[in-house]
Amino acid sequence: MVDIEEQYDIDDKEGIIVNKRFGQRSFFLGANEWNSLIEKLHGTFSSGAAVILYDIGKSYGASSLEQEKAIDADLQLTIDLLSRESRVAGWGKVGITRTEKGFAVRIQRCVFCSASGNHREIQIGCFFVKGVIAGFAELLFGSGHFNVEEIHCGKDCCEFVVILSG
Ligand SMILES: [Zn+2]
Repeated sequence: MVDIEEQYDIDDKEGIIVNKRFGQRSFFLGANEWNSLIEKLHGTFSSGAAVILYDIGKSYGASSLEQEKAIDADLQLTIDLLSRESRVAGWGKVGITRTEKGFAVRIQRCVFCSASGNHREIQIGCFFVKGVIAGFAELLFGSGHFNVEEIHCGKDCCEFVVILSG
């Protein structure tokens, strides 16, 4: 288990939460609130919401990896760190494994999908996750050198593959 006070300083008088590792201000967003945002986004932009979520996920992934300064010469160390950081962030049980063509990303009880009830038709939260994975991959392998595909998305488990193209 990870103690939240090891990760954050919470000043309840000033309403300020600081991520201790980065020395930067943070805030928490509940899974239900996230789902409300997604539903609203979908209500307003319909299928365009998926594109927006993918794009913001991608920026988020790239900027958080840059902030992490996590890119180790040892790719396995980087992958392990990203898996752990995603779990600490509460995304679900994230596991990343090597495959013949690249990587498989498996998220059990993905927070972006598992809390979204039975609104299957608007279970688009994983476009955000797909974007985050693409953001990581772009920094690690360079633009145009990979493809991210969603294999499966659902309440129990979400799976993606990153296929490297040399
Ligand atoms: Zn999903």
